[in-house]
Amino acid sequence: SMEKSAVAAQLSQQFGLESVQPVMNPIGNGHINTTMLLKGDKRAVVVQKLNTDVFPNPEHLVENARAIEQHLTEKANNGEYRLNIIKHLPTLENNYLVNLNDGVWRALEFIGGSYSEDIVDSADKAQAAANAFGLFAKALEDFEARQLHHVIPDFHNLAKRIDTFEQTLAKDSHGRAAKCAAEIVFCQSQFSLADELQTILKSIPLRPCHNDTKINNMLFCSKTNQSKAVIDMDTCMPGYWLFDFGDMVRTFCSPEAEDSLNLDNVIVREEIFSAIVKGYVEPLADTLTEQEKQSFLLGAKVMPFMIGLRFLTDYLDGDNYFAIHRADHNLQRARNQFKLYQDVLAKEPLLTRILAKY
Ligand code: ATP
Ligand code: MG
Ligand code: MG
Repeated sequence: SMEKSAVAAQLSQQFGLESVQPVMNPIGNGHINTTMLLKGDKRAVVVQKLNTDVFPNPEHLVENARAIEQHLTEKANNGEYRLNIIKHLPTLENNYLVNLNDGVWRALEFIGGSYSEDIVDSADKAQAAANAFGLFAKALEDFEARQLHHVIPDFHNLAKRIDTFEQTLAKDSHGRAAKCAAEIVFCQSQFSLADELQTILKSIPLRPCHNDTKINNMLFCSKTNQSKAVIDMDTCMPGYWLFDFGDMVRTFCSPEAEDSLNLDNVIVREEIFSAIVKGYVEPLADTLTEQEKQSFLLGAKVMPFMIGLRFLTDYLDGDNYFAIHRADHNLQRARNQFKLYQDVLAKEPLLTRILAKY
C-alpha cells in the first residue's frame, strides 16, 4: 500500500493538476469505492479508487459511465437535460484509469456548490431526488440499453438469488439455519414473487437503468436545495425501471436505517412514497407504458424482499459479502428488510391508489 501523499502526488501528476503539494481528503459516504477530493493549486477534482472485488472489470464500468455521460451531454446541448453531468477526466496520456500500487483510480469532475444527504428527512427532498432519477431515465429513453456491459451479471435476477439462497441453506456451513428458522420459512413462503416478476418482465421494455437510486447518489444544489446531478453510474446496466423505482421506495420510505432493530418503526411512510411517485413519474409520463407503470408496485415489493433474502443468504454463508459490524448483523438487516416488505404488502391497496393518481 502507498502513503496518501504519494497517491495524491501521482494522481495530481497524471491528471495534470500541476500542483506542488496537492491535498487529498475523503468526501461523501459511499460504501463501495474510496472517494476523495483532490485539491490542486488551480482546481479540485474527485478521485476514486474503484472497488475491484465488486467490479472485477473497471474498464467496463468506465465504458458504461462514459457512454451515458456522452448521451446526456448531447441531450444537455439540445436543452433536453438540465442536470449537471459527472464527466470523467482523462490523464495527460488520454487514459481514464490509472493503476497505482494501491489500486485502480479514476478522476471525475467535481460538482461544487452541492451536497449529498444520506437519509431522507422530508417529502420535498424525496421528490427532488426521485425527480432527478426520473429526468435521468427520461434522457436515456433513446439510449440503447444493450450497449451497456453487465458489470454485475444477474444483479436483479430474483430466481437466481433464490437458487443461491437454497444452496447456501442446504450447506448451512456455519450451523446458523436453526437460529433463523422463522425467517427462512417466511421468505420461502414468498418465492412466488419470482414467478410474478418473470411474467411481468416479458411485457415491459428493457431500459438503461441506474440500479443504485439511493438518496446519496444524487447531489442537491447548496443554494436552491433542488436536484443538481445524478451521480454514481457504477451499476448502470440494462434493466427495468421497476427496480429503480423499487429501490427508491426501499431506501427512502423507512424512517429507520436498513440495519435498525426498531422494527416497529420500519414502515413505508406514505407521504414519502407519494413524493417518489410524483417526482419520478412526472418526467416519464409520456414514456412509461401502461404495464410498466403497473409494474412499479411489484418493484416496491421485490427490492426489499430481494435485499432481505441476500442479507439472510450472507448470514447463512458466514458473512462473506456484506461487511458486518456486530454479531448477527446480516440477520438483523434481513429482518429489517422483510419488515419493510411486509409493510408494502400491508399497504398495497393504498400504494396502488397513490400510483394510479399520477
Ligand atoms: P455507493 O455506496 O453508493 O456505491 P460509491 O462508493 O460508489 O457509493 P459515489 O456515490 O460515487 O461512491 O461517491 C460517494 C460520495 O462522494 C457521493 O455521495 C457524494 O457525496 C460525493 N461525490 C461523488 N462524486 C462527486 C462529484 N463528482 N462531485 C461532488 N461530490 C461527489
Ligand atoms: Mg454512491
Ligand atoms: Mg456506487
